[in-house]
Amino acid sequence: MYDYLVVGAGLYGAVFAHEAKKAGKSVLVIDKRPNIAGNVYTEDVEGIHVHKYGAHIFHTNNTKVWNYITQFAVFNRFTNSPVANYKGELFSLPFNMYTFNKMWGVVTPEEAAAKIAEQRKEITGEPQNLEEQAISLVGRDIYEKLIKGYTEKQWGRDCKDLPAFIIKRLPVRLTFDNNYFNALYQGIPVGGYTQMVANMLNGIEVRLNTDYFEHKAELDALAEKVVYTGPIDAFFDFRLGTLEYRSVRFENELLDIPNYQGNAAVNYTDRETPWTRIIEHKWFEFGKDADGNDLPKTVISREYSSEWKPGDEPYYPVNDEKNSALYAKYKTLAEQESKVIFGGRLGEYKYYDMDAVIASALEMSEKLLG
Ligand code: FAD
Ligand code: UDP
Repeated sequence: MYDYLVVGAGLYGAVFAHEAKKAGKSVLVIDKRPNIAGNVYTEDVEGIHVHKYGAHIFHTNNTKVWNYITQFAVFNRFTNSPVANYKGELFSLPFNMYTFNKMWGVVTPEEAAAKIAEQRKEITGEPQNLEEQAISLVGRDIYEKLIKGYTEKQWGRDCKDLPAFIIKRLPVRLTFDNNYFNALYQGIPVGGYTQMVANMLNGIEVRLNTDYFEHKAELDALAEKVVYTGPIDAFFDFRLGTLEYRSVRFENELLDIPNYQGNAAVNYTDRETPWTRIIEHKWFEFGKDADGNDLPKTVISREYSSEWKPGDEPYYPVNDEKNSALYAKYKTLAEQESKVIFGGRLGEYKYYDMDAVIASALEMSEKLLG
């Protein structure tokens, strides 16, 4: 009999399993996928760590989480600085002095601020939708070239029909600073995320290709308690309805050239290009292999926004009113399951970044394991 059965070998499951083992508990981890690491899984292709389920950049302001995760990997100095490609014109992101200089030829912060002030005049009163919010933040030129097309592709809806808050978190700076995240700590684990999660699961029994629901009765009988990190609605057999997700589709290509776009992320901000962005994975690790040699080939992933339907890979929870209300009902059911703890992005139906998932798993570990 195990003390804990952990369903899901993603970050939440790995943190919890590691802490449980450290506390002297016996743990069995299962995952239905053929690999550990959940959505942060990186696959080795020609020496390149390919982020199979979407590009993952670790960033946090939480020193406790940073100290915790760096036990399992050394992080490199990668800083996320995406480039926007609008019909062949390139702009720096997030919006900063480099962007304003390229857009308007302005040189000083004062000139940039004046240009934005002039363009935002068309919005009077509180912005009512994403279009108005964007124009009020950075003016119409930037809205038209760098926001409108990208956002409409990503969300499949007109910017006038999207809530203003989505765009509010994008930084706007009057300094020459291309660092996308305002985070104290940032980087990519050297050796890939899969190796980092393998280090967390070191010495713990893991069974892959094992779907919890296909063997539920046998698996439940093996453990005192279950930590479940799969979709909460699936646990209850969708009896109250299906929670919705936003999905993305990736098209990966191995190219026999050393450098495709010179940057990890290039956003295609026009409406006509069908993909939202292209990731070139080698640049997360500066184009070098483990021994510091230049990698001769490259892998790129075109990212397409796609409509999610039941049965697809769940990516981003949609925390709108309808889905939040349905989640609240499932949560009430979950609270009645005395043997099962629900955690993680799918178990809690939350738009968690990696650092928040680690923090949440640590908190649960402290609560349960003392
Ligand atoms: P998961 O990684 O999804 O793990 C859950 C695991 O449970 C999966 O492996 C799944 O196979 C398994 N499972 C589910 N059901 C069953 C079942 N029935 N039986 C057995 N196993 C089951 N965060 C950042 O901080 N920075 C980023 O740049 C970033 N980029 C992202 C990009 C994309 C496209 C996405 C989707 C997310 C991104 N995130 C990013 C968020 C990050 O992926 C999550 O915070 C983190 O992976 C969540 O870990 P988890 O363990 O909760 O979930
Ligand atoms: N956005 C944009 N142009 C860009 C990048 C982002 O208009 O080049 C907008 C878009 O509406 C997006 C939002 O900013 O939904 C948040 O961007 P972020 O990159 O944080 O989105 P995520 O990767 O979390 O979907």
